[in-house]
Amino acid sequence: MQSATEFVEQRRPVGGRRSSKRDFIVQVFLQQEGHLAADKLVELIRAEDARISRATVYRALQWMVEAGIARKVDFGEGRYKFEHSYRHPRHFHLICKTCTQSYEFMSSDIEALIEEVAEARHFAARQSVLQIYGICVDCQSGRRIERVTAPTEALFARDALRIAIATERSGLEFYTRAAALTGDARGRRIFRRLAAEEKEHLGKLETRYRELLTADPELESHPTFLFFKGAAHGLFAAGTAELRQGADDRQALLIGIKCERGSHKFFKRYGDRFEESEGKRIFLEFADEEREHLDLLIREYRSLLERQKTKRQPRRKARASKTRR
Ligand SMILES: [Zn+2]
Ligand SMILES: [Zn+2]
Repeated sequence: MQSATEFVEQRRPVGGRRSSKRDFIVQVFLQQEGHLAADKLVELIRAEDARISRATVYRALQWMVEAGIARKVDFGEGRYKFEHSYRHPRHFHLICKTCTQSYEFMSSDIEALIEEVAEARHFAARQSVLQIYGICVDCQSGRRIERVTAPTEALFARDALRIAIATERSGLEFYTRAAALTGDARGRRIFRRLAAEEKEHLGKLETRYRELLTADPELESHPTFLFFKGAAHGLFAAGTAELRQGADDRQALLIGIKCERGSHKFFKRYGDRFEESEGKRIFLEFADEEREHLDLLIREYRSLLERQKTKRQPRRKARASKTRR
């Protein structure tokens, strides 16, 4: 995991002058979670070192925005707030007009859409901001639940694991069903083997999920952070539905190939988009596993076609020799 110092060093402008006051301000800022008004940061800094002036803090904030260490967000309160990007993936905001609280969420589908539009218009997009204004659930119900701000990176990892777990579960169901209906002994062995692998991976992912919860028992009380179009029920669910309608050995393999390919592409595409984080690693590791399954199924499919061909061939040869005679 990249340290805060490495993170800042990577973004420090080449040949830029170093300043120990600024380094101190950056360090304090990176320790904060959530969104911070400039005044609040001034308060925090001056509590530590009263010799640092308000103007120095403001300049340091501006420097961080330019270096990509801080993001400046307009929450519609007549002033900007700042959030750092260290271990804090890109995200969008839901903003309550009643209590001015903001809630973060992430959607790679929205990002992809923004990219598509920008590309079509030959627009070099630098930053996209999506603010959704409205009334939060606490204000609607009149019950305010005091929540501590959860570290975004942990929420991101939690949701990435949830998606991966849902996919493993649907994969396990798919391969168990495929093994039960396949008539071909070799195909059945492969499906059983894949089911066993999915089960093992599922166990590992669940352990990782429990570890996250042990580190932060409040983690599950936070709302969903990461949103995906249609992946919440597991990427193999559609394949299992297809199997239920009936499939022969060849079709079962083809459906499996389609699911694994979809799953691999899904985790690879999103994993590549994410910034360096635990969530990204979970996605890319998972993409690799799916790739291996995909290769295995493709080999199996080819072998099945070969076997079916050679089974038919002797008869054709027999016929051919008859006609020759
Ligand atoms: Zn509210
Ligand atoms: Zn934010």
